[in-house]
Amino acid sequence: MSGFEVADAVIVGGGAMGCSLAYHLSREGLSVVLCERGELGSQSTGRCAGGVRQQFSSELNVRLQRISVRLLQQFADDVGSPCSFRQIGYLMLLSTPGEVASFQQQLRMWHTAGLTEASWVTPDEVGELAPSVSRDGILGATFCPTDGIASPNDVTQGYAAGARRLGAILLTETEVQGVDVQGGRVVAARTSRGRISTPLVINCAGAWAAEVTAGIGVRLPVVPYRRHIFVTGACPAISSDSPMTVEVATSFYFHPEGDGVLFGMGERDEVPSFDVDVDWRVLETIQPVMESRVPALLDAGIRTAWAGLYEVTPDHQPLLGPVGEPDGLWCACGFSGHGFQQAPAVGRILAQMIADRPVDLDLSPFSPGRDLAVSQPEANFI
Ligand SMILES: Cc1cc2nc3c(=O)[nH]c(=O)nc-3n(C[C@H](O)[C@H](O)[C@H](O)COP(=O)(O)OP(=O)(O)OC[C@H]3O[C@@H](n4cnc5c(N)ncnc54)[C@H](O)[C@@H]3O)c2cc1C
Repeated sequence: MSGFEVADAVIVGGGAMGCSLAYHLSREGLSVVLCERGELGSQSTGRCAGGVRQQFSSELNVRLQRISVRLLQQFADDVGSPCSFRQIGYLMLLSTPGEVASFQQQLRMWHTAGLTEASWVTPDEVGELAPSVSRDGILGATFCPTDGIASPNDVTQGYAAGARRLGAILLTETEVQGVDVQGGRVVAARTSRGRISTPLVINCAGAWAAEVTAGIGVRLPVVPYRRHIFVTGACPAISSDSPMTVEVATSFYFHPEGDGVLFGMGERDEVPSFDVDVDWRVLETIQPVMESRVPALLDAGIRTAWAGLYEVTPDHQPLLGPVGEPDGLWCACGFSGHGFQQAPAVGRILAQMIADRPVDLDLSPFSPGRDLAVSQPEANFI
């Protein structure tokens, strides 16, 4: 190994999170080595739906996502390449009185948090925003026009290229196999290409984050769950500027993807697993929901499908910041299915924290050491 035996920071994992952090830490003037055991963006990031929303149930996530949206809007100017951010909006369909009450309350919170462009939508207005959606049983909806979709590949590769231009070393096919600790402090990362002396290791290993720290006795509550995505053939009924649409009751969602439509749904009775083989029986459980909500999708056929991993914590909130002991071990993991859209803001703010500068937002409620029994859980949508 040469040129990367010593670094101010070693990042474990080269998904959207690790690459965003590499870029933002490099901008803060730190020397960074990122180790990715496969290829950059090849795991959850490369298998995600690209959704970027600000309509979260926890106020801290709303504020965090407002920062991510701003960073994605100015991505090309800041980072030097486009990220294909299309602000087609997110439409959240509500079909029970309980959902209506909950989202009307959230709407007030969103406005307080500065998300003033989010609004209440009547069933008739749903018809205008998304003509292919059946309004049967819809009691109302919320819509935020500045939400949308971005390219996971463009974001990850853009941050990676930007970091490299600033001097960071991003190693692929390089596994972090352990963390060396002396006197309660991190002193090195052990990798498949040798030892890197560093006082700071940041765990951005996605669904595998718990494995990275298990060897030094740090238990992280991050559990992998498989999630599927299906993409239809050409579907003229759904235009390319249709919003990302989520049926809250079932978590069924879809958005335009090329000339087709990308869709998925939360899966019931799932068990933790690293398996990412496609189980076509999942499609059978989604089909009745499609049939009742967006029948046009049934005519489009299925062009392709894949599966990836959610990295789930007990409260569906991420683990961000120092773990406490050992000193110098940090986390940016446990995003519970929201990590692509949170990576821009989280990378920027963690870099501010590490550089000991004023932060855009206090992320201490997401501290890895928080009391999970009392932490405010986040609702689990795409
Ligand atoms: C079907 C599906 C749809 C989704 N849709 C959305 C969406 O619309 N919007 C959204 O925001 N999120 C979505 N997500 C969630 C999102 O994909 C993840 O939260 C996000 O990609 C996490 O990014 P990451 O960089 O933390 O993890 P990853 O992209 O998984 O990157 C972690 C990397 O760490 C590497 N690694 C692991 N162990 C080691 C080691 N020991 N040494 C070196 N490298 C290691 C892995 O190889 C991997 O590349 C979706 C996920 C799935 C599965």
